[in-house]
This record gives sequence, structure tokens and C-alpha cells, in this order.
Amino acid sequence: MVTGDGRKFIVHPILAAYVADYPEQCLVTCSKSKSCPKCHTGFKELDSGAHAPRTSASTLAAIAEAERLATSETNYRARCFAQNVSPNVNKPFWASLPHTNIHVAQTPDVLHQLYQGVLQHLIDWCQRLMTKEELDARIRRLPPGVGLRHFKNGISALSQISGSERKNMAKILLACVVDRLHTRAVTAVRSILDFIYLAQYRSHSLATLGYMEDALRRWDENKSYFIDVKIRSHLNIPKFHSLVHYVDMIKLFGTTNNFNTEMFERLHIEFAKKGWRASNHRDEFPQMTQWVNRRERIHAFARYLEYAVARRGASYSSVSLILLTSW
Ligand SMILES: [Zn+2]
Repeated sequence: MVTGDGRKFIVHPILAAYVADYPEQCLVTCSKSKSCPKCHTGFKELDSGAHAPRTSASTLAAIAEAERLATSETNYRARCFAQNVSPNVNKPFWASLPHTNIHVAQTPDVLHQLYQGVLQHLIDWCQRLMTKEELDARIRRLPPGVGLRHFKNGISALSQISGSERKNMAKILLACVVDRLHTRAVTAVRSILDFIYLAQYRSHSLATLGYMEDALRRWDENKSYFIDVKIRSHLNIPKFHSLVHYVDMIKLFGTTNNFNTEMFERLHIEFAKKGWRASNHRDEFPQMTQWVNRRERIHAFARYLEYAVARRGASYSSVSLILLTSW
């Protein structure tokens, strides 16, 4: 690879982080569905915190042992499942990659784990505790506020709830349940909301990571309320379990905005949806790639003009304005 000053280097990339949603995490790490892809925790123990971490070697050893001892295909699958390993892939692509621990490489995912997972469950439970109609009525009664979305029809009638809608729900949820639900339920809701917001800090110290651990501890102390009132029969939910790995992951890889899937969802709009709309919807792929290509070239040329004009000390606002309007 060539660096900015023109020097060439031989580069050996190491697979250190793998951004994926939960089904893909299980597929990539050869973990049994509904188990934790990062630690040796099966479905029935998900609620009991983190267990010993999985390693690439332990997963490969489990697959190899199942292959060696299996007496039939059914027996092989049963042996894999007993070790919380998926029997579907027996030669994973990462098996020969040096310095890679595929289980550690699975990164936290604020959009799918926290907003579309944990918070979605929590809102559902609040609706069942106080009825959908009452939560809707309380949401409708909220006065409009800057930075808040006003759900004028409540939230229960919404279908296909987007990430940004879920974020707007998070802003108002606590205010709508605080004087209505039991103290333990309110504390549980608040601790999860605290955790969600702390997990999105753009910088962290040991103190702020301590706040995340505090929030998780408060959730652990109060979550049994949902079982006591028979809203849930258990809390073995992979996305809730994933919270126990957040602090360690942030210490290892930095803040969660480094590997947030929202960025890729956003790029899907820029690179795929807008390109599709710009095409005539027939033999669309070459048109879409050309559309993206042109936009990138215009962007690169605009940056060059900015650089060139700024270097000569002249005003470039008129130049960039013409370029922007031509987009
Ligand atoms: Zn785990």
C-alpha cells in the first residue's frame, strides 16, 4: 500500500473487528442460534451474565471433536448443539487467519441490539403493564418540544418502526411511565435508558464505563419484576445478554460509534436507494454504479477546486455554489 508521502509498504491486515447483526454473528462464529457468540453461554443461561470467553481454538476443537466422535449426521449435529456450536459450517473462513479471535471480533451494535432489540422489548412490556391504549394516550398528551417527535396517534399503530422512531420513543418513554408503573419497573426502564445513552458516548473514561456498569447492575437488581408480574417467564434474550460485553468491547475497540451498523444502513440509502431512483429501473445496476461514480468524481473535483482556490487566497464560494447547485 502507498502512504500519503508516496512510500510503499507491504501490509498484513489482521481481522480484528467484524460488524454484523445477531444472526450473522452466530453464522460467522459458528455459534448455535440463541447462544452468545462471544462467551460460553447457552440459551438457558443468557440471563446469568458472562461466562468464560469463547476462542477460535475452542470452537474449532468442538467442531473437530464432534466430527471425530459422531456416528451419524444426526449425532454430529447433536454433539455440536451440546457444545453451543453450529453444525452448519465445519470449515470457517477464519480458521487459518493468524492473530484472529473471531468471537472477540464481534462488535457491539447500538442500532440492532439496543434500540431495535432491548428497547423494543422494554416498550412492549410497558404496553402490557399499563395497556397499549393508556401508553398511547400519555404519549399523545405530551406537549411538543424542541428535538422531540410528537407521536400524535401514539405508537401502537406504527408498523415497521425505524431506528430514528425508536430513538424518539426512548426520549419520552420514562416520562410516560414514571408515575404509573411500579418503582421497580420504572427503575428497570431508567437503567436501560441510562445504559443506552452511556453506550453512545463519543469518548469514555473508566468513570463513564463505571456508570455503564452501575446502570447494568440496577437493571439486574430490578429486572425480575417483569417475571414476578408474569410479563415474561424468563429473560434469556440474546440482545439483553449482549449488554454484559459492552464495557469490555469499548475498552478493546474504542467507543461504539466506530462500528455502528447505522453508518452502513445510511450508505445503503446513498449508494443503493438514491441510485435506484435515479435509474430508469431497467438494467439498473450499470446505471446505479455510474451514478455513484459520477457523484464521487464531482465530489472529488469540488474538493480539488476548494483546495486550489484556497491556495491562491481567492474566495471560492461562487465556484462551490455553482458545483453544489449542479448536483
Ligand atoms: Zn456472552
